[in-house]
Amino acid sequence: MKARLVSFTDPAPGIRHFVFELPERVEFEAGQFASLVANVNGKEITRAYSLAAAPRGDNRFEICLNRVEGGLFSPHLFDLALGGEIDCKGILGTFGWREPVTSPLLVATGTGIVPFRAMLQAAPVRPVLIYGARYEESFLWRDELAAQSDLILTLTRPAESWTGRTGRVQAIVEEQLATGAIGQVYICGLKEMVDGVRALCKEKGLDRRQIVYEKYD
Ligand SMILES: Cc1cc2nc3c(=O)[nH]c(=O)nc-3n(C[C@H](O)[C@H](O)[C@H](O)COP(=O)(O)OP(=O)(O)OC[C@H]3O[C@@H](n4cnc5c(N)ncnc54)[C@H](O)[C@@H]3O)c2cc1C
Repeated sequence: MKARLVSFTDPAPGIRHFVFELPERVEFEAGQFASLVANVNGKEITRAYSLAAAPRGDNRFEICLNRVEGGLFSPHLFDLALGGEIDCKGILGTFGWREPVTSPLLVATGTGIVPFRAMLQAAPVRPVLIYGARYEESFLWRDELAAQSDLILTLTRPAESWTGRTGRVQAIVEEQLATGAIGQVYICGLKEMVDGVRALCKEKGLDRRQIVYEKYD
């Protein structure tokens, strides 16, 4: 199925938010990803991109990604002009709210925030959200996320003017688990962070059914 690029914005340095239109409506749930395919340098490449918005009952889907320097697929997507097309194999994946949603803690770094933006638009409760980035200018949807969650931002490369939390997300996850009020932990981002937070949750006594995660690499 061909997806046509209808608009895009660049909300942060090196990050692009794309809106694609499909020829027909496809059912999906917040938390799922689009499976996109392209021929890059003579090779067929498939990549997954989490949907950046909850379903709105139309033919469109949104994704948001950073350009990985030296990467194969992401630079190809950034080169796509308005009206250009990309093959979409479908909307797939099992990441998303797990019923019964119980005192959830969401943990994201970098573009790992993307599925949470969609999930928060369809959230059954108000979760705690820990969102880590290197630089302040990389944070996406800050006001929107703060309105929908108890948002804790943390930076690993803060400017002197930054008055918020600093350092990796793990220390804040530990504090949150210590409150005893967390029933589920949802994690999304690169493998190193996801594995680190999963290990921490298990060490603190959470059952694996309480931990839901999506790894980007
Ligand atoms: C289920 C799923 C959902 C995903 N959703 C998103 C999304 O919403 N936004 C998004 O930006 N990426 C997302 N990704 C990652 C995406 O699929 C690609 O891996 C990424 O765009 C790099 O592809 P590439 O071909 O450009 O780089 P490649 O040539 O495959 O190079 C891979 C390198 O890029 C690194 N990498 C992968 N993802 C990222 C990233 N997001 N930021 C920095 N480095 C990265 C890998 O660690 C590896 O070193 C998702 C991955 C999965 C499995």
